[in-house]
Amino acid sequence: MLSTMQDDVPLTISRILRHGMTVHGDARITTWTGEAEPHRTTFRATGERAAQLAHALAELGVAEGDVTGTLMWNNAEHVEAYFAVPCMGAVLHTLNLRLPADQLSYIARHAGDKVILVNGSLAGLLAPLLPHLPGLEHVVVSGPMAEEARTALAGASGVRVHEYEELLAGRPTAYDWPELDERRAASLCYTSGTTGEPKGVAYSHRSVYLHSMQVNMAESMGLTDADLSLVIVPQFHCNSWGLPHAVFMTGVSMLMPDRFLQPGPIAEMIERERPTHAAAVPTIWQGLLAELTANPRDVSTLTQVTIGGSACPSSLMKAFDDLGMRVCHAWGMTETSPLGTIARPPATVVPGSDEEFAYRLTQGRFPAGVEGRLIGPDGTELPWDGESAGELEVRGPWIAGAYFGGVDGDPSRPEDKFSPDGWLRTGDVGVISPDGYLTLTDRAKDVIKSGGEWISSVELENALMAHPDVAEAAVVAVPDEKWGERPLATVVLRNGAAVDFAALRDHLAGSGIARWQLPERWALVAEVPKTSVGKLDKKVLRGQHAAGELEVRRV
Ligand code: AMP
Repeated sequence: MLSTMQDDVPLTISRILRHGMTVHGDARITTWTGEAEPHRTTFRATGERAAQLAHALAELGVAEGDVTGTLMWNNAEHVEAYFAVPCMGAVLHTLNLRLPADQLSYIARHAGDKVILVNGSLAGLLAPLLPHLPGLEHVVVSGPMAEEARTALAGASGVRVHEYEELLAGRPTAYDWPELDERRAASLCYTSGTTGEPKGVAYSHRSVYLHSMQVNMAESMGLTDADLSLVIVPQFHCNSWGLPHAVFMTGVSMLMPDRFLQPGPIAEMIERERPTHAAAVPTIWQGLLAELTANPRDVSTLTQVTIGGSACPSSLMKAFDDLGMRVCHAWGMTETSPLGTIARPPATVVPGSDEEFAYRLTQGRFPAGVEGRLIGPDGTELPWDGESAGELEVRGPWIAGAYFGGVDGDPSRPEDKFSPDGWLRTGDVGVISPDGYLTLTDRAKDVIKSGGEWISSVELENALMAHPDVAEAAVVAVPDEKWGERPLATVVLRNGAAVDFAALRDHLAGSGIARWQLPERWALVAEVPKTSVGKLDKKVLRGQHAAGELEVRRV
């Protein structure tokens, strides 16, 4: 029997846009400018300018399926591109502005970017890439740019340069968005490439639509039109975790930091604009915490903080709780749109209890749209018993089933990334409790294999960061003649703290770390290397150790 429902109504981003522009037309997008007043606009005006941008791109020759790249901060213009490009049937490709030049040009070439929209402040980053992008026809610059960058862009052969506002001016503020197949690609995002070349994930209209609904559920971010969300997680990092699309469904206003991502300006924008929610990786929050400790501010409106991208240290969650900023921990990947799990404790636990805190520190539960399973080293599925550790595999309508165009000529479904029955192999190792809470213990490649047993680098890092003298810590496996691998603990001390590795080791022992897991190799570092999206870069750290660049002490 066929259903009697309107199943032919496709789940497209233009539906999200139309809803946001009409039902939530007055919802706000505020962009930090670093000047006395931020830039302010509404969802309605953003939709109108998206229509103007679509007309302009069409005139530049962007047709259905063509790829338009963005090299932009989080700001109103970037949101315009978020809707204009996919709604007209083209594909939005958000370029990660923190990647090294060779990776950026590899990605823009691999994706086939025909047009790139760039913020003026980033034009200097784009200009040297142009000779390596033979398929690029147009660059559209939004906002002021330095004279040097202007000259460099103008000198690139085969590329026409336009000014964003001039290109939009006078164009119609409505566009007859085509009715697209919901399975068409809407946007492309590349993984951050910590292992090999970055890999492209092409989200569909359908996956974005369904993921947005999940983001909005009370068990996920659960925001309403009374909220103002400070969207720090970059628009090039898994679509800002889906927020720009999700808020157009619910009328949540957005505060966009543009290029002002240092702790000082973030604290200032919280105090002045009074957001109720914010989303970012732990590194950003560690920085903000230090800033707020040094220069207290009124951050009382910010009561909900979504943290993901890497494990949230318990010390950070505790410190934020004390400031009234309740952390909600989530796990995801570029390949999972990214929402994969979210840590809302069960209703049965007592609010404020240790038990509740322990639940909040897990990576959380799978939403109904995501199925998860653990696969042991011998390839068999493991029970959800809270003890059996295996690699997490997931599947669902917003989980990648292949990579865009393969990787360096490889097939789009590398065997190590997808199981034969179509599940995504996440490369994350963990356990799942009988009531469905996932706890990640490591990345498969970061786990320390000592004498045939596994040591979780994340567990050691969390315990170290709970010590008052430690600002940051990263633990990596290093070769050991006797044990195969042993942990090397690298630490950044807080200002004024003196080095005492023996005390740190005792602290670990006192935090419940088993004796045989305690590191005997220690190094003091000025900073822990970070990836382009602000995660600990253990590949670099292992390289520094192998090259003898770290002063390792035995304790
Ligand atoms: P990316 O695609 O750059 O977002 O990286 C995804 C990876 O980040 C995941 O496979 C995890 O290894 C890591 N990750 C994301 N969220 C968390 C979390 N809450 N806890 C631990 N690791 C995380």
